[in-house]
Amino acid sequence: MPELPEVETIARGLDKRVRGDVIDSVWLGKHREPFKSSPREIAAALPGTRIAEIRRVGKHIVFDLVRKTSRNGKVSMQWILHLGMTGRMLVCSPEEEIPKHTHAIATLSSGRELRFVDPRRFGRLSVATEQGFSGPGTEPLTVTAEEFAKLFHRRKTPIKAALLNQKLLHGVGNIYADESLFRAGIRPRRQAGRLTRAELDRLHGALKEVLREAIKLGGSSVSDYVDAEGREGFFQLQHRVYLRTGKPCLACKTPIKRLVLGGRGTHYCPKCQR
Ligand SMILES: [Zn+2]
Repeated sequence: MPELPEVETIARGLDKRVRGDVIDSVWLGKHREPFKSSPREIAAALPGTRIAEIRRVGKHIVFDLVRKTSRNGKVSMQWILHLGMTGRMLVCSPEEEIPKHTHAIATLSSGRELRFVDPRRFGRLSVATEQGFSGPGTEPLTVTAEEFAKLFHRRKTPIKAALLNQKLLHGVGNIYADESLFRAGIRPRRQAGRLTRAELDRLHGALKEVLREAIKLGGSSVSDYVDAEGREGFFQLQHRVYLRTGKPCLACKTPIKRLVLGGRGTHYCPKCQR
């Protein structure tokens, strides 16, 4: 499942390629699962809008759309996309063969097409007429140390589980939770509410650092993630603990351990993390 850095990479790639283009028409497939708003609503909302910007909000990709007839250029509509496990939004030319599991096609004035392809159908498309879509939780790239520390105040869950809780921070998934806990030197099972302020400050710094590095490298290519142009990311080469069970810690050579926390495989160094 793509996490924050991958979604950021995809949103930036889409923005670079189709910002300013106009949606002429929309085709929607027969499967209902991908449509969080009704297909009728989506089909009515999108045509005749110009793509003002594409950006990431949490793990969602938001298309800010302006009606072509709008005089003030104000965003009048948002097209919101969650990629789920296997969802991809591709920019294609119409001659390209339409892949299996294509659930939506938006034809653009430039002649290109935006195609939403999702074999496992956990991805979701919706439209909103208000431009305030912010998703749940706090944005990890901009949260202050103060706000960050408050999120975990009195939480009895393990810190790893709290990092994955999308109501607290949005967009942090398994890879970046494990990697930031390693860099902060904190054991994943520690009770979130019992971490000291110094530890939380370290974690705050480590999480931002890991996410920024991953964005710079185009995300992590695990399972079948690729960006809007079909390129793989490279952050997986920087993983220090994630999926490195039994391999020597890059800092101290102790074998990396794995445990299951809240149903998720969790990787850590028993010596560097306390
Ligand atoms: Zn170590």
